[in-house]
Amino acid sequence: MNENDKKNNMVARAPVVVVMGHIDHGKSTLLDYIRKTNVTEKEVGGITQNISAYEVLHKDDRGLDRKITFLDTPGHEAFSKMRERGAQIADIAILVVSAEDGVKPQTIEAWKTITENKIPCLVAINKIDKPSANIEKTKQELAENEIYLENYGGKIPCAEISAKTGAGIDNLLVLILILAEMENLQGSESEPASGFVIEANMDPKRGILATLIIKNGTIENGMTVAVEDSICSTRIIENFKGETVDSASFSSPIRIFGFDKIPQVGAGFKTFQKKGDAQEYAKNWKSAQNVATPAKSEESNKKVIPIILRADVSGSLEAIEKEIAKIKSEGAEFRIVSKGVGSISESDIKSISDGKEAIVIGFNVKGDKSALETAEKRGIVISFFEIIYKMTEWLTEEMEKKRPRIETIETTGRAKILRAFSRTKERQIVGGKVLSGKIVLGGTVKIMRREFEIGRGKIINLEKSKVKTSMVEEGTEFGMMVESKIEIAEGDIVELFSIEQK
Ligand code: GDP
Repeated sequence: MNENDKKNNMVARAPVVVVMGHIDHGKSTLLDYIRKTNVTEKEVGGITQNISAYEVLHKDDRGLDRKITFLDTPGHEAFSKMRERGAQIADIAILVVSAEDGVKPQTIEAWKTITENKIPCLVAINKIDKPSANIEKTKQELAENEIYLENYGGKIPCAEISAKTGAGIDNLLVLILILAEMENLQGSESEPASGFVIEANMDPKRGILATLIIKNGTIENGMTVAVEDSICSTRIIENFKGETVDSASFSSPIRIFGFDKIPQVGAGFKTFQKKGDAQEYAKNWKSAQNVATPAKSEESNKKVIPIILRADVSGSLEAIEKEIAKIKSEGAEFRIVSKGVGSISESDIKSISDGKEAIVIGFNVKGDKSALETAEKRGIVISFFEIIYKMTEWLTEEMEKKRPRIETIETTGRAKILRAFSRTKERQIVGGKVLSGKIVLGGTVKIMRREFEIGRGKIINLEKSKVKTSMVEEGTEFGMMVESKIEIAEGDIVELFSIEQK
């Protein structure tokens, strides 16, 4: 620590760690294992509602107790928004790779996030207890994907672990502490706290609450927190165990209650002694936003399929929004017309003008009884999901059903008219020869004169050698009765076509 650091009261701070990797490679199991084995029983009993981050104490390589904070964010691909921000708010990333499955698409995606954010990282090769685990192959696959481990052409520390049995996890924690020390992470206790929102939701009893991760400074009860334009005067600060504390400092996750609106997950927060200063900050943030937001892009000609979205927490809302934005078709787009945290209400249903087109989604929430009744009466379907990819699969199908069809016209036969007889009441008998393809009874034809379509007609009778038939082929002469508003003349070409809906 140099003189400047001392002057600013800079002290070493605990690392904030995020776990990333492919689905099912064991992220949650690892986080659960560390939580269970390092947070004492009594404390676990005190947790009323899990908050999405926790602290553990672990002995470093010199035998000193050191703190590590883990972000317990959902690892599903759809949570990448949170995860990307997780990488910003975290000091260290653990890339979990299953020794059974090796490198998978989300492993590579996570690695991209890690490298783009330049976040120090270590690799945990997991599931080594499994008989089919192949550590060497996994390391090779990592190298093939330019993830170079120590002793494998690179510098990335690697721990071989089993999140199930706990094998290797002590070593993993020690490696985290060594990496943290190398990063020389620091914070100042004397400054007002700042950091990031990692979770926000609405509690029916306690109002809007958010979990924050402090990256610098200290928060004391009574201070006011501002996140973009939402504000919360702290009356209760809870630590990650749900215990009330008077103050908290860097690298600690805290939960506070009473925001005036739901703060954005991933957004930064600042703390102020005076509420007025926080209000001023929020006001300035908002006006800066108005200047920065460009005018809405020109309206596309696409069909808009409206979506009303309700979810349990704002983190899910964000993740879902990101997934919905990915579902595209040429002729239509989804537009979230209303979103929020909480159950689906009757007024949500009443706000729908076109029940056939609108999509109502409840993610990990239910619908109010009155909402369900009104929806049923009006023939509006409410779709409930608990798993994001199930929802995206379903939405992709809906997009396919609802998007406008693109019609393509395919010519399946051409014939030259050799004789044209007189018409009666839009019906006319003509004789011709098939030039290419087939002419089929019941088909619709374009009537072409000097290469221009002059009208259309329907074949209501077809004969070959004066015998009724349903089809005549290339090179064959035929007679037919056509129903059309246009009078067909000798020399015209008729083109049989079919319309393909794509
Ligand atoms: P996530 O999607 O990455 O969070 O993966 P999970 O933690 O949900 O793990 C997926 C599955 O793998 C679960 O059935 C876990 O019990 C199992 N699993 C995770 N880690 C291990 C491990 O080290 N050994 C074994 N045998 N199973 C594991």
